[in-house]
Amino acid sequence: MSGARSKRRPARRPAKRPAKRRARSVAPVPARRGMIRVRRSRVHGQGVFAVRRIRKGTRIIEYLGDRVSHKEADRRHEHKDFRDNHTFLFIVDRGVVIDGGLDGNDARFINHSCDPNCESVIDDRRVFIEAIRTIQPGEELTYDYQIGRDRSDPPNVDEIFACRCGARSCRGSMLWPPKRPVSRRPRNARTESRA
Ligand SMILES: [Zn+2]
Repeated sequence: MSGARSKRRPARRPAKRPAKRRARSVAPVPARRGMIRVRRSRVHGQGVFAVRRIRKGTRIIEYLGDRVSHKEADRRHEHKDFRDNHTFLFIVDRGVVIDGGLDGNDARFINHSCDPNCESVIDDRRVFIEAIRTIQPGEELTYDYQIGRDRSDPPNVDEIFACRCGARSCRGSMLWPPKRPVSRRPRNARTESRA
């Protein structure tokens, strides 16, 4: 997110819902040459695009940046506006936030989509972007930011994080839907709703 871009992709901080975890050992993932490229996106600002066909399941890139505590991430960004486009935070877990704005790589330019072709996977406290379906050359890479909600969010938070990904299933917001109270639906709820 460079300042010139109008994209609003502020702190991914809220992500209280961590990306899917997988327990397996991690080998360092070198940047794969010729697989992806950063250029302007029609969705917004810059985006990351496939240069060649990327098979489903491919670990495409590691989300790199300065690894800091939540406290430090907050400190860095508390003086910034919600709309600040320079924030690239990715929550790894309760202890670590990756600030892609510092020593980050191209992963920070991957846009959000509500119907993405990639997902973020946390492995051994590192974050990787993996293809969840086969991606054709020229296609933009996306994943669902699943930005969490916070009590301190301004009332217009969904506007600030407005999503225009164009997917039929677009939530209209990069934020994860509000938590619904856990309700025990009657076992025959589905039958009832169909009637
Ligand atoms: Zn969307």
